[in-house]
Amino acid sequence: MAKGKINVSVENIFPLIKKFLYSDHEIFLRELISNATDATLKLKHLVNLGEAKVDYGNPQIEVKIDEDKKTLHILDQGIGMTTEEVEKYINEVAFSGANEFLEKYKDSAQDSGIIGHFGLGFYSAFMVADKVEIITKSYKDEPAAHWTCTGTVDFSLEEADKKEHGTEIILHINDESEAFLKEARIRELLVKYNKFMPVPIKFGTKEKTLPLPEDAKEDDKPKTVTVDDIINNTQPAWVKQPADLEEQDYKDFYRELYPMQFEEPLFHIHLNVDYPFHLTGILYFPRLSNDMTLQKDKIQLYQNQVFVTDNVEGIVPEFLTMLKGVIDSPDIPLNVSRSYLQADGNVKKISSYITRKVADKLKKLFKDTREDFEKKWNDIKVVIEYGMLTEDKFFEKAQQFALYPTVEGDFYTFEELQEKIKAAQTDKDGKLIILYASNPADQDSYIQTAKAKGYQVLLLDSPIAPHLIQKLEAEKENISFARVDSDHIDNLIKKEEEQVSKLTEEEKETLKQQLESVIPKKEYSIQLENMDSEAAPLLITQPEFMRRMKEMQQTGGGGFMGMGNFPELYNLIVNTNSPLIETILKAKTDKKRARLIHQALDLARLSQNLLKGEELTNFVKRSFDMIK
Ligand code: ADP
Repeated sequence: MAKGKINVSVENIFPLIKKFLYSDHEIFLRELISNATDATLKLKHLVNLGEAKVDYGNPQIEVKIDEDKKTLHILDQGIGMTTEEVEKYINEVAFSGANEFLEKYKDSAQDSGIIGHFGLGFYSAFMVADKVEIITKSYKDEPAAHWTCTGTVDFSLEEADKKEHGTEIILHINDESEAFLKEARIRELLVKYNKFMPVPIKFGTKEKTLPLPEDAKEDDKPKTVTVDDIINNTQPAWVKQPADLEEQDYKDFYRELYPMQFEEPLFHIHLNVDYPFHLTGILYFPRLSNDMTLQKDKIQLYQNQVFVTDNVEGIVPEFLTMLKGVIDSPDIPLNVSRSYLQADGNVKKISSYITRKVADKLKKLFKDTREDFEKKWNDIKVVIEYGMLTEDKFFEKAQQFALYPTVEGDFYTFEELQEKIKAAQTDKDGKLIILYASNPADQDSYIQTAKAKGYQVLLLDSPIAPHLIQKLEAEKENISFARVDSDHIDNLIKKEEEQVSKLTEEEKETLKQQLESVIPKKEYSIQLENMDSEAAPLLITQPEFMRRMKEMQQTGGGGFMGMGNFPELYNLIVNTNSPLIETILKAKTDKKRARLIHQALDLARLSQNLLKGEELTNFVKRSFDMIK
C-alpha cells in the first residue's frame, strides 16, 4: 500500500474548503455526479472511436445511502482511473485546481454568491465528509485502485479487487452534514441539479403498475413490478431540434420544468446557436398581469444539462427575466462575480442574441397570426413595453409589433395609429395629439366627450405607460400624448370653427372674481372657455406634464430624485355658455351663489374621482337637502 502526502504547500486547503463554501454545501453532489457523467460520456466516445474495447451497454449512475454506516455512494460505469491516473488527476491536478481556485477567490468568494459553480470539483466532497474513498477501475486492462483520504494532506492508495470498469466514490458524511444521509434531502438535490442530465441516474427503486393486457378478464388486477427509480430525463426538449418537436412537446416540457405551474405558456422561443458561442434553450412567455410582483418560477441556467442557478441576472437582459424556461451554455463563465459577468464580452453577445431572437419571434407572431397576437397583447405588453424602455435595439425592432389598443378594443401599430388620426387630431401647430385613457372607468365622461367628437382614445393602462409615453415623445417627431382628462379637448385639438361667448368681457371679469372668492387659488387655475351650451359647466383637468411626472416618480425611474413632490394643481375649466354659469353669475345673494359654486365644483370633482372622505359625505348630505 502506498502512502503519501498531497502537495504540502496547500496544507490549509481543507479548512478553507469548509469555510468558504459554507453556504453552498449542497453542490458537492452535483460536482460528483458531473464527474460521473463526464467519465461515462468519455467512455462512450472512446468506444465509438474503437479505442476502448469494452461493451458500452446502457450505463447508469447510481446514488445510494447507507444510513447505518453514515455513507453516501456515487457509482458510475465510466472510464475509471488507473493507479497512476488517481495520482495524477486526484492528488495533483484536481488538488492544484482546487487550490488555485481558493487562492484566487478567498476574498471575493463569499459575496460572489456563486462560488462553487464548477471549479472545485471532486474536493468539494470534503465540505460534507471527513473521509472520502475512491474505488476505481479503468477500462484499460489494469488492476483497480482504492484511494482514501481523511481531509488532511495524507492519503493512502492501494490495489482493490473491483472487476467492472467505473468508479465508486464513498463519502463518510460528517456529523454536521447528517442531513445528506436522508433520502428526501438527496432526492431534492438530485431533482434540483440533475433532472436533465444526459446519463440516467438511479436512486433506489419504485413500484410500477403495469397496464392490463388486452385479453384481461374483468376481475384481473393490474400487476405491479419493482423498477429502478430514474431521477432524470436524459433528453430534455431543449437539446432536440425544433423540427423534431410538436407544439404539445413544448407544453409538456413546460410542465416538466414547473410541475406546480398550472397555467399554460402563451408561446415559446427555441434558442439554438453554435457561433460565436454555444447556447441552446427554450424561453416561454407566461401569462403576465399588470402586477409585476415577485414570481417563483424563473429562467433556469444550465451548463451541459447540469443545473447551475435560477438567477440569470446579467446574462439575460433584465426585461426578459420575467420569462420562464431554460438556457444552457458552456460559454458562460460561472466562478466569477456578477459585475465581472456583465463586462464579459461573450455574455454581452449572449444577451443581445437572446433579445434579437425574442424580437424576431414577436415580429413573426404578429405577422403570421395577428388576431391571436392581439388577444395575447394584454398578457405580454409589460415585457414588451419594459424592453422598449430599457433596450434601444429592442425599441427599434418593436416598432413592427408593439400595439396600441384603443378603449374600444382595436389594436394599431404606431404607424397605423398615426395614419388613422392624422386628419382629425392635430393641435394648432400641426402636431399630432394622441389621446389616451389609463382607467376607463374613472375617465369615462372624458372618454365619451372625446369619442363624441370622433377622436380615437388609446387604452394605456400598464404601470410603466407614463415612461413609455415619455420615450415615444422623445423618439418620434411631432407627436404629443395627452390623457383624456389632462386638458379640455378643444384646447388640445384644433377646431374648425370657434364658439362665441354669450357673456360680455365685463361679465366674464365679474364671473371670474365671483369664482375666485369661493374656490381656493392654490389648487385651481380658473380658465374661462366658450363651449357648447350642452357641455358640462365645470370641468377639472390636470396638466399632462405635471401628472405624468408624478406617475413616473411613483413607478420609479431615473431623474426624479431630489425633485421633491410635485404640487397638486388642477385646471378648472368654466364653460361660459352653460346655463348654470349664467345662473351663478346672476344669483340674487352671495350666499346662494357660493352654494351653487360649491355644488358645481363638487360635481366636477366627483366626476374626476377627487371627492373623497368627509368632503364626499358632506356633498351627499347637501345634495339630499336640496332635493327633499
Ligand atoms: P474537473 O472535473 O473539473 O476536472 P475534479 O476535481 O472534479 O475536476 O476532477 C479531477 C479529475 O479527476 C477529473 O478531470 C477526472 O480526470 C478525474 N475524475 C474525477 N471523478 C472521476 C470519475 N468518477 N471517473 C473517472 N475520473 C474521474
